[in-house]
Amino acid sequence: MRRSQAGVEPGRTLRAADGSNGRAAQPTTFARPVEALTPSIMSCTTCRNKACRTQARDCFDVKAPSLEAYAAPQTRQIALAASRLIDNGRAGTLDRLEEIIEYCRDMGYSRVGVAYCFGFPELAERLQSRLKQAGLTPIMVQCTAGGVREREIDESKTKDTVSCNPAGQARVLEKRGAQFVIEMGLCMGHDVILHQELEVPFTTFLVKDRVHDHHPARTLGSVADPMARFLEEMDDSFRMIPGHKLRAWLGEDEPDRPVVLDLRAAEAYANGHIPGSIRAPLRALPKLIKEILPDKKRRIVCVCQGSVQSAYAVAFLYERGYRNAYNLSGGFSRWQSDGHPVDSTRVASGAAASA
Ligand code: SF4
Repeated sequence: MRRSQAGVEPGRTLRAADGSNGRAAQPTTFARPVEALTPSIMSCTTCRNKACRTQARDCFDVKAPSLEAYAAPQTRQIALAASRLIDNGRAGTLDRLEEIIEYCRDMGYSRVGVAYCFGFPELAERLQSRLKQAGLTPIMVQCTAGGVREREIDESKTKDTVSCNPAGQARVLEKRGAQFVIEMGLCMGHDVILHQELEVPFTTFLVKDRVHDHHPARTLGSVADPMARFLEEMDDSFRMIPGHKLRAWLGEDEPDRPVVLDLRAAEAYANGHIPGSIRAPLRALPKLIKEILPDKKRRIVCVCQGSVQSAYAVAFLYERGYRNAYNLSGGFSRWQSDGHPVDSTRVASGAAASA
């Protein structure tokens, strides 16, 4: 971020005394001299004791200036808002967009700019809609805003195509009063320009990576791929639990009592289901989980007729951060034939019904 690199606090203008914003005076490199550091502590990745975390050790002599930075009112406000997103067991309960929305509310931002790539028009519309639903005023600006042709930037270009214009995006957002900017899918380098040119705080929502379906961490291995990790962590039970185990769990007191999701069709559910289960059709699960499963640490058991659909549901839930999801072995058929309790009270058909 240009202000930090230039030593100016977020939110403060960079305009110089002559009225310019000082852009022309920006250095072309932000490299700093390498300070003399003890070779043995040069790399945090090879450090074994991680004493900074366990004993608050200050290996690099940065504690005092850091605390000075956090004492600045605006930085302190940001740090406290960031803490409120994860403290008191909240870590892992909000996805990134939910965090962004809550952060905006906490910081008092209402006009939220979105600098997006023209290659993501549908995602941009969906993001706009979510921001509106959250009571924010989105200001959407595509990367080609400004109509700058590539040859106007680079004379060696032969085609007369319109260029991405992150500097223009920054200016449109500035003109339209964005208090905070969400970057979505800009090309490598264009994102750097956007960050450099923006004069308001920003965050990144989507990082473009055409090779890895826009999940760049996947190139580092399966540790960053939730589905690969799900498969790696799978034990021989394939996250199956037998009916007697579920029955024992259902006898436990809150909060260990699991939420039982019944994926079967409405008619099958109405004819008989596990007492207390919630009907949650597989195709409705992406929308329903936010409503019925706010706690990602909650124990969940998925049930279908024969435990095939429920395997998909468990994989989906795991990918969404629900690490405590299980599949009822043999499904409702075996639960019933093994003589476990069944609630045959007919309930109205619907997308989801609580028994
Ligand atoms: S103690 Fe912390 S800061 Fe120091 S080298 Fe180890 S990981 Fe890095």
